[in-house]
Amino acid sequence: MGLTPMMQQYMSVKENCKDCILFFRLGDFYEMFFEDAKIAAMELELVLTGKDCGLSERAPMCGIPYHAANMYITRLINKGYKVAIGEQLENPAMAKGIVKRGIVKIITPGTYTDSSFLDDTKNNYIMSLFIDNDTFGISIADVSTGEFNCTRETIDHEVIMNEISKYNPKEILVQKSLDEKLLKEIKERFKCVFSSFDDEFFLDEREENLKAQFSNYEDVERDILIKDSANGLLKYIIDTQKVSLDHINTLKRYSVIDYMSIDMNSRRNLELTETLREKSKKGSLLWVLDKTSTAMGARQLRRWIEEPLVDKTAICDRLDAVEELTLNISLHEDLKASLKQIYDIERLVGKISTQSVNAKEFIFLKNSIEKLPNVKEILEKFKCTLLNKVNMKLDDLRDIYEILDSAVLEAPSISVKEGNIIKDGYNEEVDELRKAKAHGKEWIANLESKEREETNIKSLKISYNKVFGYYIEITKSNLNMVPEGRYIRKQTLANCERYITEELKNMEEKILGAEEKLVSLEYELFTKLRDEISSHIDRMKKSARLLSELDCLSSLASISLENNYCKPKIINNGIIDIKEGRHPVVENMLSYGTFVANDTKLNTKEEQLMLITGPNMAGKSTYMRQVALIVIMAQIGCFVPAKEAQISICDKIFTRIGASDDLAAGKSTFMVEMWEVSNILKNATPNSLIILDEVGRGTSTYDGLSIAWAVVEYICTNKKLKCKTLFATHYHELTSLEGVIDGLKNYSIAVKQIKDDIVFLRKIVKGGADESYGIEVAKLAGLPKEVTKRAKEILENLENENSKEISYEKILEEKPKKVTSAKKQKNDTVQIGFADIGKDNFIKDLCDIDVMNMTPLESMNKLYEIIKNAKNL
Ligand code: ATP
Repeated sequence: MGLTPMMQQYMSVKENCKDCILFFRLGDFYEMFFEDAKIAAMELELVLTGKDCGLSERAPMCGIPYHAANMYITRLINKGYKVAIGEQLENPAMAKGIVKRGIVKIITPGTYTDSSFLDDTKNNYIMSLFIDNDTFGISIADVSTGEFNCTRETIDHEVIMNEISKYNPKEILVQKSLDEKLLKEIKERFKCVFSSFDDEFFLDEREENLKAQFSNYEDVERDILIKDSANGLLKYIIDTQKVSLDHINTLKRYSVIDYMSIDMNSRRNLELTETLREKSKKGSLLWVLDKTSTAMGARQLRRWIEEPLVDKTAICDRLDAVEELTLNISLHEDLKASLKQIYDIERLVGKISTQSVNAKEFIFLKNSIEKLPNVKEILEKFKCTLLNKVNMKLDDLRDIYEILDSAVLEAPSISVKEGNIIKDGYNEEVDELRKAKAHGKEWIANLESKEREETNIKSLKISYNKVFGYYIEITKSNLNMVPEGRYIRKQTLANCERYITEELKNMEEKILGAEEKLVSLEYELFTKLRDEISSHIDRMKKSARLLSELDCLSSLASISLENNYCKPKIINNGIIDIKEGRHPVVENMLSYGTFVANDTKLNTKEEQLMLITGPNMAGKSTYMRQVALIVIMAQIGCFVPAKEAQISICDKIFTRIGASDDLAAGKSTFMVEMWEVSNILKNATPNSLIILDEVGRGTSTYDGLSIAWAVVEYICTNKKLKCKTLFATHYHELTSLEGVIDGLKNYSIAVKQIKDDIVFLRKIVKGGADESYGIEVAKLAGLPKEVTKRAKEILENLENENSKEISYEKILEEKPKKVTSAKKQKNDTVQIGFADIGKDNFIKDLCDIDVMNMTPLESMNKLYEIIKNAKNL
């Protein structure tokens, strides 16, 4: 026994899409067989049946009606599957033998374009990664909008991870030969679909493919790695979409140093686009900043937040534009009103290119374009460089408007194959056929009255259905009045009979002929129109891009005004000076006016590292995050939550905040912490901003303290770093480093103790905190009284325990070079004798002075320094 011919056909189609679930079209259904059927039945909750396939056992089978396919495809795609659509390639009525079938499209998570199921406010990215020796190329595309970006860098796992986390692709294409360790790491960190290919897939016919697709191919012509990754990605998109992709016509080449580098953990920790725990937009920076009016703007703003700028002019241009918009409220309101009426031109253009657009969407496009002259008129009234530039470059696409306006009905059918698309007056033949159709209907109405008169049957009516066409209907009670011979019986129903006449039949042919012709002519004109509009894709894409940028600026202006933000001054002298800064998200979550504003002064010299102490819950993390977010907002080109702010451009922001053990499976919390710290110390530069929250807390007190101390020392003394740093710690002992380590300054978040309770003042003040108030905070959190009472007793015992001092000394003897002794402090808490370290260092420095080789001026300076240091001891 062998497979039935139909099953043989299924097998040969399946051969070409082994990694997909094949939707095999049989009549009005898509059927799935064998393993695909089992998976689909389970994932889509379908009934698993069987089909006789010619073998001894029936083939497992399940199916879905073809018209409901999109919903099922979306569910499978969201679960990470790929779906191949095996369609009937010929009209079954005309086919001889088995109807031809083949794959018409492969839908994958990264190439999905169905706008009714995609999130408007997010791009749907697919990425390819190609590595050769010590270099990698990355290309990223969004098939729904036509965006195609690429970059090449020297290989560095962190940079690769950062790029992936920036785009958050749904699917990644890699080489089969990719280093297993790297692939494992990527797979652990990113939950997306991976497809692997031989190197040849990326390399074959590289030049030809890219040249044919991209108008600016020469931008990457000499960059092999970019070409490899771009070629692989392009081929995959073409192979899966199997339609023209005219909207993917420009490569955007970028370099990672064009934007502020924010590593993957910092993106998550700072909750730029989603919250850490719930992964929701609410509670993120994006949530505060997003007041965009269009879907294109919403996507662009997300990109702006993911990619803060580092170029001073570009940042200032955005800030000036935001400022002008905030100063011209009424013009800005007009602008927003126009933007609100603009549809997602980017995705509409994608649909035009992939030929999946319908006439209704043409009307959306037309109505959007209609608003452009108005937008330009408003922009003309602004003076700043960026808004002027947008105005100058913004093509109002008037010709496209005219074409659409003359051709497409205001309320056309959604289906492009049912007529009712083309406007009267656009095409003579359409007008004539419409007349014939209308005339035919009038004729039928006349015939109905004529027949009623002739037969004297008042209830006689002429109706139409798809099976019988036009017919005369006579109720049972009037059958005796039906004229003999002239009426031909067609159908008998319970209470009536249906007839046709020779005359009616002839007219029916004419009417239906006209209708059929009209439908196919309208479809033909629609496809011509689509092709014509398609030839302007580039212009429409450019305008869409400008509108999205304009929308972002408008959104930033709106929130700046609403939240009382200030325009930051962008400088390049290493200083960050924020007066009355606030956390943009926390202040939004709290009731108005309850957020306590705080100042920040950082530079690369005497105020390089803020060592922040204070009880739990005092607001240390909030404060540090607030500084990072203010810098990011400024570099996006947004006003910042502060009374005044001077911001030096940061090239990178690093954060080490909280536990992120879920991010790197298989490593302990402490391991992850150390790994992140090591990454920061290796990659930070003097222009970076580092936020470190409780480094060292994941291990024993002494180890943790020593690590925290050494990290602080390293950041402040290593010439390659010396970058602005906020360092929160519960190791109060570190406060003694002020004056010992240049650039380190103590700060604490003030609290007030009233008897056994504490009140959080949320104010950052100079100087270290004296106590941890851990037990008081635990009390606030509702820990049972017996527990907090007992904890207090234990704490007192511990503080009185003399042996503690010995263990500290013991530890410190083995530890850092500068430490020679530790002393018990006045208040009986255990403190390390940092003053002694200072004295030792001071004496050593004195001994090292080579007076004979100094000029008088140098000696004077040295003497001044000695006095200064002595005062600090
Ligand atoms: P821990 O050491 O336990 O991590 P913390 O000192 O880092 O605590 P945060 O988590 O920053 O404390 O802040 C605790 C809460 O205090 C925040 O959730 C916020 O609601 C509130 N808070 C923080 N800063 C301020 C502020 N400046 N004004 C008003 N409320 C604030």
